[in-house]
Amino acid sequence: MNIAAHTLGCKLNFAETSDILRRLAAEGNTIVDWAACSRGAEKADLYLINTCTVTAVAEKKCRAAIRQAHRQNPDAQIVVMGCFAQVAAKEIEAIPGVTLVLGNDRKHLLPYMLNSANLRNRLNEISQDFDGPDKKNLQNFQDLAKREGFALQWSSGDRTRKFFKIQDGCDYFCTYCAIPFARGRSRSASIEETLCAARRIAASGSKEVILTGVNTGTFGQHRNESFLDLLKGLDQIEGILRYRISSIEPNLLTDDIIDFVASSRAFLPHFHIPLQAGSDHVLQLMHRRYDTALYAAKLQRIKAVMPDACIAADVMAGFNGESEEEFAKVLSFIDSLPISYLHVFTYSDRPGTAALRLGEKIPIPVRHEHTARLLELSEHKHRAFIDSQLGKTRPVLWEHTDHNGTMQGWTDNYIRLCRPFAPTLANTVTDEVIRHGNIVSDTD
Ligand code: SF4
Repeated sequence: MNIAAHTLGCKLNFAETSDILRRLAAEGNTIVDWAACSRGAEKADLYLINTCTVTAVAEKKCRAAIRQAHRQNPDAQIVVMGCFAQVAAKEIEAIPGVTLVLGNDRKHLLPYMLNSANLRNRLNEISQDFDGPDKKNLQNFQDLAKREGFALQWSSGDRTRKFFKIQDGCDYFCTYCAIPFARGRSRSASIEETLCAARRIAASGSKEVILTGVNTGTFGQHRNESFLDLLKGLDQIEGILRYRISSIEPNLLTDDIIDFVASSRAFLPHFHIPLQAGSDHVLQLMHRRYDTALYAAKLQRIKAVMPDACIAADVMAGFNGESEEEFAKVLSFIDSLPISYLHVFTYSDRPGTAALRLGEKIPIPVRHEHTARLLELSEHKHRAFIDSQLGKTRPVLWEHTDHNGTMQGWTDNYIRLCRPFAPTLANTVTDEVIRHGNIVSDTD
């Protein structure tokens, strides 16, 4: 089969799609580029769409991707999986062209079913196998089930960096968020199993690993293991030169973790710490587990021990209670912090969440205006961060792609640089001086 995949949402989704594609390719299927299909240069027999439900916009993009796949090849099978598929299976099943909807609890079954012409029947067969006595051919999935459906997975597309899923699910139930409904309870493999998988990644030759999860800092909590102990184990794996923690909740980012990262061999001075709101009133309405004072203290600690660290923050615009007065506090709080840039989301009602029952709704045009002002602030913060790094020498891991005679790579503190293409430098680290002339301006 020719298979094309499209992923929406977070790095966790990207790691999962990539892992599924690697298993499908190993079984003799051909992976074709989604963008090439969009241009009409390729055609797929099966389209996989890994969806996201974090905002209404994300769901709109999922629906558009399904319609696009169906237009490209009306005879193709379309499998829709992931978070939006989990929470809106009935709606998605009704979209023309959709063959199968797989929620997060079932998407790992896909590689087992592809030899069947009729995916939907094959899913039923496999589910019966799984629930019944004959489980021999599903050994892998049994192993996952023992861990409440958790699978260690990693991306495969980029030979330089791997996104490594070490945790799934979330028990926090922030009032605006549907992710716990889509992904279930927090869970992970043991430290030993996770280190074993990391050694396999090291053996594949990739030099940088990005630890991903839904609520990464809760790794190991349900089995009395700690995220910090995992980091210490990973730091000792030979072959992996660099680790990044893709995101960690501020209340879980302990001073011990910060100090460990500062003194570690391979963890990089780059943090992604969701803030969501810069006003204590709104943070309480969101049921976040910290206040602005704790958030500010964490950033001060990071900068005290890693002055050149890059710190990114997620911020939600227009959540309930974000009056003009509260929003002014948000802007001034963010402005006062050593944040390098923001990921800005506009609040939208998510079915089933507690926020639907909260008062103090913000009109939609005001939400968009707050979004625009936060994006402006993010640009300003990012320029200031880059300026603070000009003239400094930082290690850069170079990637393989030839961009019209140049190659690109990230500094340890997440600035994208370029240099003339030299194939022998791909997947190696060199020290580079940061100059206006070698900066590539994107952040993600
Ligand atoms: S921590 Fe809150 S925002 Fe993050 S996934 Fe869990 S419930 Fe959602």
